[in-house]
Amino acid sequence: MKKFLAIALAAVLLFAFAACAGNKTTDGNATDGNVTDGNATAGDVKPVLSMATEAGFMPYEYYEGDEIVGIDVEIAKLIADKLGMELEIADIDFNQIIPSVQSGKYAMGMAGLTVDATRLESVNFSTSYATGVQVVIVKDGGSVATLDDIAGKKIGVQTSTTGDLIASDEFGEESIQRFERTADAVTALVNDKIDCVIIDNEPAKKFVEANEGLKILETTYAVEDYAICFAKENTELLEKVDTALKELIADGSVKAIIDKYIAA
Ligand code: GLN
Repeated sequence: MKKFLAIALAAVLLFAFAACAGNKTTDGNATDGNVTDGNATAGDVKPVLSMATEAGFMPYEYYEGDEIVGIDVEIAKLIADKLGMELEIADIDFNQIIPSVQSGKYAMGMAGLTVDATRLESVNFSTSYATGVQVVIVKDGGSVATLDDIAGKKIGVQTSTTGDLIASDEFGEESIQRFERTADAVTALVNDKIDCVIIDNEPAKKFVEANEGLKILETTYAVEDYAICFAKENTELLEKVDTALKELIADGSVKAIIDKYIAA
């Protein structure tokens, strides 16, 4: 009987310990010391590297069944491996990524995120690992045939993206229709609710492949650098991630991942 009690007690303790340890890996909360400082100290429980993204941005982050996959996800996993951390991904609205990294809810933001001067006032960025170009998706034979036709038309963008900023600057606030998800902007174009969508080139290609009757107009808007963002005060994690990222760029891992998703 005594022996049974001892075993039962041990089981309860073990369970309680596992539950606590489990919390550490699953809450993805960057307020936990282990999570933000990036130190792999917790014995067999790896500290969490929480990443905020918006998983509607093929081929950088998107769903395959229930799983979020893509270029950013694969690069982030390799970074987490190098740091001895467990990557946890949160799929949130794009315009919440920077605020929630700033507030410490997530340790980093990785979402085909363009480095730009305004964002640099709120967050720091890692080394750039990829580039993007803004393009315009239009309907074949629709109201916008060339870039000159865009002025005065209804332009769809994803809220707070660089496409949103460029379109607002170039064509004025009144022409912009904002969508939480890029896919909804594309659906609106397909259904003639808007005349075009301004978006990054790689997701644009995927949307055009998936929807008949759409095409891409190339633009001369700037080439943008994608990088990972961190809260201003979290320089320790930024440096660790940056070192890992630079190694992955130098040894060809980043290029191999990009080539796997984007046909050269
Ligand atoms: N590169 C664009 C930006 O940073 C779009 C990113 C996205 O929609 N995920 O604003």
